[in-house]
Amino acid sequence: MRPATVTLLTLLLVWLQPATAPADMTNDPFGASRKKMVATQIRSRGVSDPAVLRAMEDVPRHLFVPEKLRDHAHEDRPLAIGFGQTISQPYVVALMTKLLDLTEASRVLEVGTGSGYQAAILSRIAKEVFSVEIVSPLHLRAKQTLKETGCTNVTAIHRDGFFGWKKHAPYDAIIVTCAAESVPPPLIQQLRIGGVMCIPVGPPFRVQNLLRITRRAKDDVRTEVISQVRFVPLTRP
Ligand code: SAH
Repeated sequence: MRPATVTLLTLLLVWLQPATAPADMTNDPFGASRKKMVATQIRSRGVSDPAVLRAMEDVPRHLFVPEKLRDHAHEDRPLAIGFGQTISQPYVVALMTKLLDLTEASRVLEVGTGSGYQAAILSRIAKEVFSVEIVSPLHLRAKQTLKETGCTNVTAIHRDGFFGWKKHAPYDAIIVTCAAESVPPPLIQQLRIGGVMCIPVGPPFRVQNLLRITRRAKDDVRTEVISQVRFVPLTRP
């Protein structure tokens, strides 16, 4: 091939390249939005745990919101998921996940499956996730989404999370994603000694305290107030 032909071919290839989108852009139209969400809403607010950041960049949040809200999935706010419930703001998901101090060996209980998004984030970091939801249609939909997104280490069930899920206790970590007026005693009992629970506590539909509770001994817990939050209430049948 003559040098002029080679140059022409090279030019042609360079020129053609932008037209061929990288694989992740074609298969994952929201990949760039997630990266931006993590940089501007999460890392910038001080969450630096690499496992949490990676999970938030990886899990396709848009698949956990109702189809008509997909374009809003990465906004800095909670979104309605039906039945008066919400998927939490991305930063709150990251903050609560970080507070649990998870390892690859952790077994976690979540109260309030909702969309299944928080469970999916936990499933990328921990060994096993057990999640309970009181609204049956939400439970069924979340189960389906978790299956479609390959979260095989999440076990979801329809039940009142006030009583936790004794069958799989004790847990290394418990996360409650609805606000309780006080900490449900069964949840403390299902936390292993040394385990951590993250729970919003306060009046319904008002500002609540996000607590991190460490079970130091059988009857000894340490409670830290982390921040002020607003969660939908923990309801009872
Ligand atoms: N973690 C969810 C957030 C869901 S909002 C997500 O990532 O999308 C809180 C959820 O808690 C709602 O779905 C609500 O139905 C559920 N909930 C409220 N009271 C409950 C209870 N007693 N037991 C289990 N789930 C409860």
